[in-house]
Amino acid sequence: MPELPEVEVLVKNLKKMIVQRKIRDVQLIKPYILKTAKPSFRELVNRRVQDVRRRGKYIIVELYPTLFLIYHPKLTGSIVRNNIVRRDSSFALKMGNDYILFSEAGTKKISEIYLIEGIENFKPFRLLGPDPFSQEFTPQYIVKKFRGQGSWIFTMLINQRFISGIGKAYANEILFDAKISPFKPARQITTEEAENLYISTRKVLRKAIKEIEKMVGDRLLLQEKRPFTKVYRKKGKPCPVCSTEIEWVSFKDYAIYYCPNCQTGGKIFKDRRLSKFLK
Ligand SMILES: [Zn+2]
Repeated sequence: MPELPEVEVLVKNLKKMIVQRKIRDVQLIKPYILKTAKPSFRELVNRRVQDVRRRGKYIIVELYPTLFLIYHPKLTGSIVRNNIVRRDSSFALKMGNDYILFSEAGTKKISEIYLIEGIENFKPFRLLGPDPFSQEFTPQYIVKKFRGQGSWIFTMLINQRFISGIGKAYANEILFDAKISPFKPARQITTEEAENLYISTRKVLRKAIKEIEKMVGDRLLLQEKRPFTKVYRKKGKPCPVCSTEIEWVSFKDYAIYYCPNCQTGGKIFKDRRLSKFLK
């Protein structure tokens, strides 16, 4: 699933491509993608793109006269520019002689488009925690939100209500950089660890954005190859800091990766059941 860095790069590139351009036509090819009934998608025609920006993993296209198109790619969605409407397209905006196509790979139908007149009351945004690059996200915020929380720090990091934009890939990288155990109960975080978690969150995401920009260039691509990761998908590989073998705990559809030497005081967590006894 794309996370903050991938969406950030896509937003920058999409912005360069469509800002100030007018929507000449619109096609709703697969109705599932549109989650709002009013205003009608036809209302997009003849509006001009004012801005493209990101909120968490959502992409916001702001139009003039005022209307917002909000897109969440979820697991398999993508945006491409093409001169014809492709078969895998769900939604198409015609701009100039090209189309901006919202597509979905495979048979999943989970990506979402919302058309709304104002974003202040858009419910999914009200539920989102602060952006990692916002002023609201601070070490004090982490300590406050972790108070009384028995969940693992890893689980808190991927909770969009605590902080928006981080998923199961970058949570591993952030905790490795901060030298914090992913399995530590959130309420046990120390002031120093909260400080490190804050610094590592921004550092890891910022670095990932740079790496992805290098790989993607100016293309519209939700790049999900992450060859620059240090622990994510590196099970059995040597830790880049201390050379200890990277361990993992695997779950149904994801895994937590960590260095036992750098992060868990040598403890190895084999599975969910066992890890409960090792806390
Ligand atoms: Zn290590």
